[in-house]
Amino acid sequence: MSIVIVGIGELTTNDASASVPRSHDGPIGEDRLAIIRDAAVVIEGSTVAWVGPAASAPAADTAYDAGGRAVIPGYVDSHSHLVFAGDRGPEFAARMTGEPYSAGGIRTTVAATRAATDEQLMARVARLVAEMRAQGTTSLEIKSGYGLTVHDEARSLAVARHFTEDTTFLGAHVVPTGTTPEDYVDLVTGPMLSAAAPHARWIDVFCEDGAFDVDQGRAILAAGADNGLRGRLHANQLTFGGGVRLAAELGLTAVDHCTYLADADVGALADSATIATLLPGVEFSTRQPYPDARRLFDAGVRVALASDCNPGSSFTSSMALCIALAVREMGMSPAEALHAATAMGAAALEREDVGVLAPGKRADLVLLDAPSYLHLAYRPGVPLVAGVWQSGRPVHPAT
Ligand SMILES: [Zn+2]
Repeated sequence: MSIVIVGIGELTTNDASASVPRSHDGPIGEDRLAIIRDAAVVIEGSTVAWVGPAASAPAADTAYDAGGRAVIPGYVDSHSHLVFAGDRGPEFAARMTGEPYSAGGIRTTVAATRAATDEQLMARVARLVAEMRAQGTTSLEIKSGYGLTVHDEARSLAVARHFTEDTTFLGAHVVPTGTTPEDYVDLVTGPMLSAAAPHARWIDVFCEDGAFDVDQGRAILAAGADNGLRGRLHANQLTFGGGVRLAAELGLTAVDHCTYLADADVGALADSATIATLLPGVEFSTRQPYPDARRLFDAGVRVALASDCNPGSSFTSSMALCIALAVREMGMSPAEALHAATAMGAAALEREDVGVLAPGKRADLVLLDAPSYLHLAYRPGVPLVAGVWQSGRPVHPAT
């Protein structure tokens, strides 16, 4: 079964290998989007079979007319914490009226999550994943980290596995009440890791004042690696510190937040392949200074964008909001922001099959009610998603 999508006014492919005309005199970074105008896409089964100018599109079993709209690859949201229970709306309201954000608020969600049934957790994640999909997110990573017991971390990851292969063990989110940091690191690197590893692809540590220091982070990541888990880090969100340099030194795939960076941190990232994943929903929701994306791009650092969807510091699932914030507040061009939310999100998860629209890739694409991707930042807060295709199937609007 094949389908050809015709009438695409502007197709962002992110396909660096494609021989499409590049707009070198266009907006900053637009060459990396490898845009094709008046384009068509042919889908066979779950994968892209062909992309190119509509005038030379091959025939297919059925045709769909995009009506001149723009099409982009589905967003790859490489950082989320969707397995939780409870509500922290009042805490947000308090913060907006003057109380600072600290890592300790995580414990509120931990209590609610432990009290929830598996069914309640499943239902919550399903609702959030559907919410993300309706906004154009077709791939995502989900972390544990609100269980913080052997049982609750393992079941959080088992729940997450129903929705994505990219599950991340974040037992080292915060030290739970009633234990010492030393005892808790022993638990995380011992029985908790053994229970979590079968359900996880990645391991993560919240490396921050009030959470885990660099030495603890190093030990936890090493234990994860011994159990076959790939490492990533939360680092330099609230203060300057050694987390980003640890990520670069270890050659981790991604280090996330990167809000407080010394020159040595930027230099270490530039000398590594580690991707700096920026999470502007956090700064927006905690009223913190935004990371300086321009500084990272200018230094040659690889940059991704993700939602960090979580109940404490960033309860948004909107990648379009992240793009708008990155452009308005962090010095990214609209092209850099879209690329960071798609192709670089995929790279931050070591995913070769998504984030790019090219033959052989998964047919994940988003139809925008707009003539250009530029409208994602130009029209903030406007629901521009007219349709979402995931693995070659229309998944939004519901059919
Ligand atoms: Zn996070």
